[in-house]
Amino acid sequence: MKAQVTGLHHITAIASDPRQNLDFYTSVLGLRFVKKSVNQDDPGTYHLYYGDYAASPGTILTFFPWAGLRRGRPGTGQAYATAFSVPAGSLPFWQARFTKLGVKQQPVESRFNDEALPFADPDGLRLELVATSETDSRPAAPSKDVPAEFAIRGFHGSTLALTDAAATAAVLTESMGYKLAAQAGHRARYMAAAGGPGTYVDLLTDPALPRGLNGAGTIHHVAFRVADDAAEVSARDILLQSGLQVSPVIDRAYFKSIYYREPAGVLFEIATDGPGFAIDEPLDQLGTILGLPPHLEPHRAAIEAALPKLT
Ligand code: ZN
Repeated sequence: MKAQVTGLHHITAIASDPRQNLDFYTSVLGLRFVKKSVNQDDPGTYHLYYGDYAASPGTILTFFPWAGLRRGRPGTGQAYATAFSVPAGSLPFWQARFTKLGVKQQPVESRFNDEALPFADPDGLRLELVATSETDSRPAAPSKDVPAEFAIRGFHGSTLALTDAAATAAVLTESMGYKLAAQAGHRARYMAAAGGPGTYVDLLTDPALPRGLNGAGTIHHVAFRVADDAAEVSARDILLQSGLQVSPVIDRAYFKSIYYREPAGVLFEIATDGPGFAIDEPLDQLGTILGLPPHLEPHRAAIEAALPKLT
């Protein structure tokens, strides 16, 4: 039995200043601010979500911002880089935009059949734009700053940095339904379901990489998607049978989740596609209210008073 994972759901990272984070992902990258919430384990800090217009699974990058937090170091034992899918031919637009706005970027790399532009957010989080030769029919997030023909369509994939990929690859292929899609040099690419942008996990075993240290500018966890509650419960059973330690199903209001560490130490989550981000505010107003889970609702006034202003 294998879990019915259909791709990536969301990726959660650690940031420092929340205002700087909001400005970068909305104004610079042109993503939509789709939910303002709090870290459920630390309600004095935000949980900020960015994605496409509809806040679709496979497009959602989220942050726990702690003002003044020291930087981490991306490296082994972590989700090392997060790639977004952009249309073929759009990288010159982004290179010029990053130059104009002072975004740190590196030369374009050739990766399998695509071109990848590595860049970093203000906390040093490693990001990539992959101009993909594959069909990606997901709509662009409407943005006044980024024309739709160049805009981000959602995730392309997540790259995990590992000293040894074997045990992680086994969890992906034997329990999570992933398949080896391509391999070159130190990089092996795995795909869920029929593959395509939004499904990929790359395992990178470059011996030159340092050991990762947690902090601002690093990934906290990678969440995979399943269609519904039944697929979530089934995935949990399969992972438990494989010997992994898996959390109970936790209701995160916008989706239900289980959590487990894969053998190299990267925190994985499997989240349901529903009910989605429009349960507590209309789709055309996502990101307006402070969304709180029911158990924090009685403390709304105190929580809102303690949070820093975003604008
Ligand atoms: Zn998550």
